[in-house]
Amino acid sequence: MPDIIQLLPDHVANQIAAGEVVQRPASVVKELLENAIDAGATKISVVVKDAGKTLVQVTDNGVGMSTTDARLSFERHATSKIKTAEDLFNLHTKGFRGEALASIAAIAHVELKTKTEEAEIGTKICIEGSTVVSQEAEVVPQGTTIAVKNLFYNIPARRNFLKSNPVETRHIIDEFHRVALAHPQVAFSMVHNGSDVFNLPPSNIRQRIVNIFGSKTNQKLVPVTEETEIVKVNGFVLKPEFARKSRGEQFFFVNDRFIKSPYLHHAVSSAFEGLIRDRMHPGYFLFLEVKPTTIDINIHPTKTEIKFDDEHSIYAMLRSTIKHGLGQFSVAPVLDFNKDSSFDTPYEYSKKSPVLPTIEVDRDFNPFKEGGAKSGGGFTKYKDKSTNWESLYVGLKGELSGSTDETDVTQIEFESEEVTGRLFDTNETDSGQLTFQLQQKYIISPIKSGLMVIHQHLAHQRILYEELLRNMTVKEAVSQQLLFPMEIELSKPDMEILQKVREQLEHTGFHFESFSEEKISISGIPVGLNDSSAGKVLDQLITDIRDEVPDASFSLNDLLAKSMAKSMAVRTGTALNKAEREHLVNRLFACKEPSVSPDNTQVLITLDVTELDKRFM
Ligand code: ADP
Ligand code: MG
Repeated sequence: MPDIIQLLPDHVANQIAAGEVVQRPASVVKELLENAIDAGATKISVVVKDAGKTLVQVTDNGVGMSTTDARLSFERHATSKIKTAEDLFNLHTKGFRGEALASIAAIAHVELKTKTEEAEIGTKICIEGSTVVSQEAEVVPQGTTIAVKNLFYNIPARRNFLKSNPVETRHIIDEFHRVALAHPQVAFSMVHNGSDVFNLPPSNIRQRIVNIFGSKTNQKLVPVTEETEIVKVNGFVLKPEFARKSRGEQFFFVNDRFIKSPYLHHAVSSAFEGLIRDRMHPGYFLFLEVKPTTIDINIHPTKTEIKFDDEHSIYAMLRSTIKHGLGQFSVAPVLDFNKDSSFDTPYEYSKKSPVLPTIEVDRDFNPFKEGGAKSGGGFTKYKDKSTNWESLYVGLKGELSGSTDETDVTQIEFESEEVTGRLFDTNETDSGQLTFQLQQKYIISPIKSGLMVIHQHLAHQRILYEELLRNMTVKEAVSQQLLFPMEIELSKPDMEILQKVREQLEHTGFHFESFSEEKISISGIPVGLNDSSAGKVLDQLITDIRDEVPDASFSLNDLLAKSMAKSMAVRTGTALNKAEREHLVNRLFACKEPSVSPDNTQVLITLDVTELDKRFM
């Protein structure tokens, strides 16, 4: 057999390596920013076009490169930052793999302009897909500008895999934040499609945080600081009352490098224990300094994890430092744990004269009646789907109506009927359908073949999800006007996210009176949404959009509807009266897909009499 092994040509090897280093435009931003920092820049500007898909350009005033270095910098494993393997254990720079520029040049059109202090004249190099197309002398200021154009132009599959511009921009801004927060003494600016996004002057950490996240952040910060043999901690946590339901602002930096550490995160969370409510997340900006020899930075290009030699001590130290910091600022007593925990249900209209929403009800629809939904009404669109469900009830009515047991069964209702709000007038819907509630969580209903158990929260999610989607696409949502416009303060990045979905939100019934830099004023909210929970819905929505996991089927409307449905759906633990239960069941079966929640969790189960029979054998 002839020899078959070949060495891959460099440009192919580079393309393969590029896949590891560059996943998206944000990876380019990260690598270029880190190079600029390593070059000792005091001023760095970023220019982005079309979420980085068309252009990412970073200009710095750092040391620059000689003509030879400029050419070499695009070779794989070309780095000025380490010389021996030992250097790996004593890193003071961000880069060290010498892979970034080679990888980027393999999959984009790259233009480099650079000049050192000593050089009279600078160098300009153009590279396309690892091939140098031109190299010439050019008059440029000291420092380096690297423009990366048409990312993935030669790998269409990768280019197609990129997410929508808002999502890619979000990733870019995240990377920008991480580097800008770690280096407050460096001036940063960012321009996207011609408009200024950030302009950050050199400052201290506190000012930098405020410049990025908005002036209201200042009063939320509690400083923490501590120094021991093994670690120096510096930075801020957000006061407990600003903890968010969503993950929000959580930043760890080790030796000025952004890292993710679930372990250290746990240390911070445990310091907040008892100060914030369950499932709320503390915010923090924490800077740790350790001897470079005591950490192991994961060599994988995109990982942001590191390993500490003495993890346990750092954990304990971090926890006590934060506890101490919070104690000093005596932020604990202002908390109110007795806040009504049920205020986030749309069914709660206590202490208000309820202006009842108009709700689409098909009063003729009765799943217990033979051919129930066929009597017309508002849900005919879904008739084909709901007929499956009607058949569950076929014949049941006869069985029940003939018996005097009906009242007895109703007495199984053991939950309180004291619900402050009504979805609609009880008298008007005497559908005769039998339902009761279990553990304020499930709705139980007899069906022809046995028994059906519906998860009330998930069922309501499905209903709201379809309703919201419909409203967003046909634009006919009803809005309830607020007596007094409600103001909500948001950080700049959150504001940006909200701006992008403003139109869709308005289709769901939100009405915004004004959108300023850090504040929105809401004058109308979707029907069915409680005004006290409107803020939470938006907060959750922002997180969901920010944390959106890239997947091919991404649609903003879908995400919006899912997120809002989740926040608005009636919670477990809410008592539902007869009319509300029936209404929920009816609306559920008018849905296109009643059996699963928007997240694909099962909404209901049925228990056959035959299965029951088996249990009694
Ligand atoms: P690494 O950062 O891991 O060394 P890169 O591929 O990112 O690898 O960069 C290769 C080399 O190019 C760097 O080691 C550095 O010497 C040089 N270089 C890259 N960007 C700059 C810059 N903005 N200013 C000066 N030198 C740079
Ligand atoms: Mg680098």
